[in-house]
Amino acid sequence: MYILKIFIFLWILFSGTSLYSQIKVFKNVECEKSNLVDSLTLDELFYAAYNESICNLDKYISRTVQADSLSSLRIDIPSNIKSEFIVALACFPEIRDKRLEFRYKKIKGTMNARPDVMNILRTKSNRRYVILINNNMGKHKGISLETLSPAARLGWYGHEVAHLQSYQMMNNLQMLIFSLRYISSIKYLQKVERFTDFLAIERGLLFYIFESGRYLSNYENASVAYKKFNVFNSLTIDEYKCLWYKYQSVKFIKEGCK
Ligand SMILES: [Zn+2]
Repeated sequence: MYILKIFIFLWILFSGTSLYSQIKVFKNVECEKSNLVDSLTLDELFYAAYNESICNLDKYISRTVQADSLSSLRIDIPSNIKSEFIVALACFPEIRDKRLEFRYKKIKGTMNARPDVMNILRTKSNRRYVILINNNMGKHKGISLETLSPAARLGWYGHEVAHLQSYQMMNNLQMLIFSLRYISSIKYLQKVERFTDFLAIERGLLFYIFESGRYLSNYENASVAYKKFNVFNSLTIDEYKCLWYKYQSVKFIKEGCK
């Protein structure tokens, strides 16, 4: 009986498409430098593609916001973050029909995405998620989202929606263990944050994630400790370049950025 219980526990923990186990093995972006173009050329290509992405962002946003496929969106998004948030959601269609609520509260950071505590009693398909935004009434002040460039905002929201995507790929028990580990281990938190960026990058948000990291590094009002913490939890510039070369450079080199 005891062995059966252990078996059921392990089965629940590891069954299904478990992102939980993918996070466990995620270390660095695999990048074989020898297969890449020489680093000077890669640098030039990377920044050329980055510039294109940033200057064409307006077109990209208005095209997505106007797209018919988004007219059925049921999530009530605050107007000050709406346009970029819609684009972030468009990159994660599996999150669009989820119950997602925005709440303004006193929190430590600027914004975070979390599962509703009552999810433990809900089935996966009925789960609810919450995006908390700092109301700046408490001790900890968040960054004013309005001061971010649209590209940095898109990267930021893309990262939060990627968190929701990762929760959606865990069962309730995995999510519970995940939450405990996330709040108790700084190393695990780092792994999760870096992996979350990676998920958003896989959906085409590479330069926007990169831009929000750049913005935070240069943000005047952030403390040195906050900046260091942010760098610690982000992918490195080499990893960005590597991922871009691996997934997006072919399209860019062939077609340019539209
Ligand atoms: Zn995060």
